[in-house]
Amino acid sequence: MTDLWERAQRVLPGGVNSPVRSFKGVGGTPFFSVSGQGAYLEDTAGRQYIDYVMSYGPLILGHAYPEVVAAAHTQIARGLSYGTPTPLEVAMAERLTQAVPGLEMVRMVNSGTEATMSALRVARAVTGRHRVVKFTGCYHGHHDSLLIRAGSGAATLGVPDSAGVPMGLAELTLTAPYNDREALTQLFARYGREIAAVIMEPVAGNMGTVPPLPGFLAFVREVTEQHGALLVFDEVMTGFRTAWGGVGALAGIQPDLITLAKVIGAGMPVGAYGGRLAHMQHVAPLGPVYQAGTLSGNPVAMAAGLAQLDAIRVPGFYERLGEWTHTLAQGLVERARRHGISASAHAVGGMFTVFFRDVPPRNFDEVASSDVDRYRRYFHGMLQAGIFMPPSPFESAFPSAAHGPAEMEATLRAADAVFRAM
Ligand SMILES: *Cc1c(COP(=O)(O)O)cnc(C)c1O
Repeated sequence: MTDLWERAQRVLPGGVNSPVRSFKGVGGTPFFSVSGQGAYLEDTAGRQYIDYVMSYGPLILGHAYPEVVAAAHTQIARGLSYGTPTPLEVAMAERLTQAVPGLEMVRMVNSGTEATMSALRVARAVTGRHRVVKFTGCYHGHHDSLLIRAGSGAATLGVPDSAGVPMGLAELTLTAPYNDREALTQLFARYGREIAAVIMEPVAGNMGTVPPLPGFLAFVREVTEQHGALLVFDEVMTGFRTAWGGVGALAGIQPDLITLAKVIGAGMPVGAYGGRLAHMQHVAPLGPVYQAGTLSGNPVAMAAGLAQLDAIRVPGFYERLGEWTHTLAQGLVERARRHGISASAHAVGGMFTVFFRDVPPRNFDEVASSDVDRYRRYFHGMLQAGIFMPPSPFESAFPSAAHGPAEMEATLRAADAVFRAM
């Protein structure tokens, strides 16, 4: 394994193909996985881990769910890609448009990043405006317009979060703190006629799980409508993980555009963006917004995704997953407090985060003020005990339907020992 890590670091930046996998946020050396079954991951040394990362969200049924694997196998034997329309992508688009309120037409892409990038292009084309608003701590993928952090102050022009993003482009992205009505009101007062869209995670998952305060989504919907800006719900993480159809369906709020990925692809590279017919008719070949993809709507990905969506569309699925997740999160908080450690949690559907602070956070600043060093020790203690929590205090944890009573008990038992030692 050490040898593999050295080899990896010689040929991959930081040894990885996506930064969080390097364990840089928690220190230490990542393990290399060779297999996954249900709630468990197995590494190159044959060690098993109860997995709460679940490929960062897609695997809501657990690893290698039989129907999903079978559907992919069947399609693979018929060919991996055709470059023509396929029945599978039509079925996927029908499934998504039926499930997600406001999603009347949808375009399949290959990642969440591609989905949000394209959705903003549509929003700018539809409105003829150039600025967009995002909330600090929300992540929408790594393209230039959205790799933006807040400047100083509550409601500000964005500054690049990455080298290589031009300042001129970053400035077009305005930022406000999550759950902050006043900051959003100020941005619209100042730049209202230039704002093409507000993009948001309707339940934030990329600063840890942080739900909107009561009425906040309705407020954003109202303000965007008043100013003629589009509302984009980035449901790449939350879509089909919090509820069938996502947070929009759950909250009864209809955005103008929606982005999806992760669960709808079941672990294959998939994304999607769509919304009202009037907006999606701007997309090529119907309209002037160009967007394309050699492998978009890939039949193996569609087959796997459809199989997963079929399997989770059963009565009680989200109630069970949500209850399991909530019970675990509360159990972890309770174990921490039992040993004198300040902790709180948010849990929504099949995602949760334990924060090492007394009161659950409402925005990124509050998340960042939690005890990050404690998270590191918790992460490594749990890993030692065979439990793989997200390797960063700012990532949500993802239980799956494969996590049952045995995994609950093992996780809480390990946590109790880890917190006692801390
Ligand atoms: C994961 C994620 C993305 C990026 O998706 P990729 O497939 O990694 O490009 C975008 N938005 C949200 C909310 C996400 O959680």
